[in-house]
Amino acid sequence: MSKKIVAIDMDDTICHLIPKAIQYHNLQYKNPQLTLDQITDYNLNEIWHPECSEEFFFGKPGLYEELELFDEYTIDEVHRMTHDYDVIVVTAARPSSVPEKWRWLQMHMPFIPFENFFVAKRKDLVEFDLLIDDGPHNAIAARKAGKQTILIPRPWNARIQHEFILKDSWKGMHELVDQILSDSNHQGDMK
Ligand SMILES: [Mg+2]
Repeated sequence: MSKKIVAIDMDDTICHLIPKAIQYHNLQYKNPQLTLDQITDYNLNEIWHPECSEEFFFGKPGLYEELELFDEYTIDEVHRMTHDYDVIVVTAARPSSVPEKWRWLQMHMPFIPFENFFVAKRKDLVEFDLLIDDGPHNAIAARKAGKQTILIPRPWNARIQHEFILKDSWKGMHELVDQILSDSNHQGDMK
């Protein structure tokens, strides 16, 4: 039997994008100083400095290569998962950031081969059994398509957190994935 496919998002799931982008925003623009808790959706135009732009906030050259790992457990948990599952990394990336993201992945998770690196904003078009993601639109679309989901709780998905299985640390993520996918197997058996 082929392995089940676990799809893992990059930004704010295995690394911290928004905190780093906020840091650069606040260095450039003294007022207002953004905080993570203010980011309650992806519409940032209303809260960042009037001169800030998508390009500045999300497109700073080198930004994606210097992002910090989500936590100390991230690498080990993803690595262990690759033994039991077909782990794919699925990231919505602006074209200019793709090489940076691939280099980040190679630096931290060289066990992910390039054929398992998917650049896709429309993640609902990618085949997988379970998605680990912080993006509310991705979690909702996956669930709609009948896929299992684990939501990384962040301020921008607060309003849907009550609807999803949450995990705010990678510690024990492998076990949680095992549990969800074996439960869904049993549900399948009963049909
Ligand atoms: Mg994300």
